[in-house]
Amino acid sequence: MAHDAVMPQRIAVFGATGSIGASALAVIRRHPKRFTVVAVSAHRRWAPLLEICQTFRPRWAVVVDPDAANALRRHLAAKNLPTEVLAGADALVTVAQASDVDTVIAGVVGGAGLPSTYAAVAAGKRVLLANKEALVMTGALLTETARRSGAVLLPIDSEHNALFQCLGSLVVTTESGGWQLKDAQQMIRRLVLTASGGPFRTRDPGTFASITPEEACAHPTWSMGQKISVDSATMMNKGLEVIEAMWLFGLPLERIEVLIHPQSIVHALVEYCDGSVLAHLSEPDMRVPIAHALAWPRRITSGASWLALAVRETLTFAAPDFDRFPCLRLAFEAARTGDCAPTVLNAANEVAVAAFLERRLAFDRIPAVIAETLAEIPVTAVTSVEAALAIDQAAREKARRWVSRWSIG
Ligand code: NAD
Ligand code: MG
Repeated sequence: MAHDAVMPQRIAVFGATGSIGASALAVIRRHPKRFTVVAVSAHRRWAPLLEICQTFRPRWAVVVDPDAANALRRHLAAKNLPTEVLAGADALVTVAQASDVDTVIAGVVGGAGLPSTYAAVAAGKRVLLANKEALVMTGALLTETARRSGAVLLPIDSEHNALFQCLGSLVVTTESGGWQLKDAQQMIRRLVLTASGGPFRTRDPGTFASITPEEACAHPTWSMGQKISVDSATMMNKGLEVIEAMWLFGLPLERIEVLIHPQSIVHALVEYCDGSVLAHLSEPDMRVPIAHALAWPRRITSGASWLALAVRETLTFAAPDFDRFPCLRLAFEAARTGDCAPTVLNAANEVAVAAFLERRLAFDRIPAVIAETLAEIPVTAVTSVEAALAIDQAAREKARRWVSRWSIG
């Protein structure tokens, strides 16, 4: 795009105080001529957002919680900082659509990110997608909306970014600066997402009921937010990612596989019809996929360590164990059912994970809450964001009942 060389890309970092937000801001900071931060957001932690505003001097800071927004406003004024504070979830949607924003980094966690992620896609922005839950909830709608609006949807989830890179010459750039896949159905046999297997890959499943939030959040290879860390421990994260891959690359479930790879060095593989397999390797550091997506189709430095394969003793691979990780099976089943099943799966998972983190639900009840919720909500089509949010709410209510039935608090 012409403005690329002349004007910096104007970026809104949603979820700026989170793990993805920190990685994104670290890459952006290395390239001040290329990128400028016009907006940042947080749920309610205003103190780290204040620091971010001091460093990046964005035009807007969105804080969902109104009291926290007021606190940030006072502190910005005391420091004579020019950032305007907008309060409430709707402000994220407004900023996502603003003409001063070229690129949205969708780094909000969970279904709460759907309205702003969708708004950015509908407004035809360049959208760097970390918020996989939005795509799981509304896959058909979001990808169809992107096609119509001309939005450029670039994955920063590491496995999907790795797949995107391994797709090589099948990724064709469009006139509007976007991309599409050419001949994927004929030329690709399988997309393979790797998974570390999380902290409980070898733990005795008979002890899963006593797993603590601290144990579940201690991921062996990645440092991430709490929700995705628990999702990695149940392997729901990989299940959500399988659904994410279906929609991003337009391939059926049968062409997508999960491979356990505890070292998290190979992030994904594409197997072609001629037997060639292309893999993407890097240190497990989210700055790598974020730098790739920020600069695509060019490349920029990320600040990540260089991959030192010689000092890595072994890279190992194994098939996933669906009995040990029922959440993975539930996600495949929901993907197969289609329509709103993934929306329900996601909502029930969010409720169960939150309850687990609050020590109200045992770890091994997480899949049970999801399975019961899926059985209770009828399968209907997801025709709009409003419909998705209504299904999400209904599923959350059902899931909360199962949580209180099995409450340990
Ligand atoms: P996090 O918990 O570290 O940060 C979440 C961010 O979202 C914070 O800035 C928080 O203030 C904001 N937020 C939370 N609830 C909100 C709400 N209701 N409304 C508005 N904002 C809210 O999470 P994270 O690990 O950075 O993950 C963010 C997203 O990226 C998730 O969808 C996750 O699956 C995805 N992702 C993360 C990683 C990773 O390495 N952390 C990797 C791949 C994908
Ligand atoms: Mg991932």
